Amino acid sequence: MKLKSTVLKKIKRALSAAVIAAAVCIPQGLVSAAELSDRDNPELQRVEPFQVFDNLYYVGAKWVSAWLYVTDQGLILIDSLYGDLTDLAIENIRTLGFDPNDISYLIVTHAHYDHVGGARRFQDEFGAVVMMTETDWQMTTEPAIYQEYPTPIRHLAANDGSTLTLGREQLQFFETPGHTPGVLSLAFTVYDDGYPREAFMFGGVGLNFSGVERTESYINSVERLQKMRGIEVNIPNHESTAGVFARNERLKNRKEGEPHPFVDPDTYYTWLEELLAAAEEKLVQERAAGNP
Ligand SMILES: [Zn+2]
Repeated sequence: MKLKSTVLKKIKRALSAAVIAAAVCIPQGLVSAAELSDRDNPELQRVEPFQVFDNLYYVGAKWVSAWLYVTDQGLILIDSLYGDLTDLAIENIRTLGFDPNDISYLIVTHAHYDHVGGARRFQDEFGAVVMMTETDWQMTTEPAIYQEYPTPIRHLAANDGSTLTLGREQLQFFETPGHTPGVLSLAFTVYDDGYPREAFMFGGVGLNFSGVERTESYINSVERLQKMRGIEVNIPNHESTAGVFARNERLKNRKEGEPHPFVDPDTYYTWLEELLAAAEEKLVQERAAGNP
């Protein structure tokens, strides 16, 4: 029976992959069914986990990221991956020498399957407390948009302006809607050999949604991020949006006294300008199409 349900799941997955034409979190562009199933394949998605800062590790897959934030009082996991890729994240955490049972909080940036899909597993198997915005908690109770996932048990809402303190660290939450109605972004401190740096994660970047209202709220979110000066490190929830793997190659070859390749405020703020320009172009199209 188990085999049968696995097979059914696979068929269902293949069918849904064939139906979906758009990328889940990558702006615009078409992704073929073959590419989509490649995304779900753990062997193709495997990445050796790596340390980026004293207290931040990459534990994600190739196309979608997960990050482990380490405090003196426990671990915080940012995003859960989904399906078989969640196995990779768990394995990565263990490979780095951490115990998934020490995850105090799982922060979910938004309720698309690639970020929230493994949340229920972290609740059931490791007792992690899951946090996302109230709006995206609501989304988890509605039919999934791209791919089904086990519904997480409602835990805590992360509201705009609220903080999460664990040990000596404090993370700040921001609601930055657009990509989903309740995208969660976060600011936190990372340490480069003890030296603090201000890091930020924009929790939902892709323009794969429609409507004037949503596009306007995306634009407001980006403009708000632009006003937050002093961000030095861009930590993305899809590695490609900030060149995480390329930066990690440079990090591995970093010589004494050289700057940390992830500390790059100029590229971050330029990137926000690009996001804004693309969204403004989208707004023109949405208006022309008469989408509400
Ligand atoms: Zn998404």
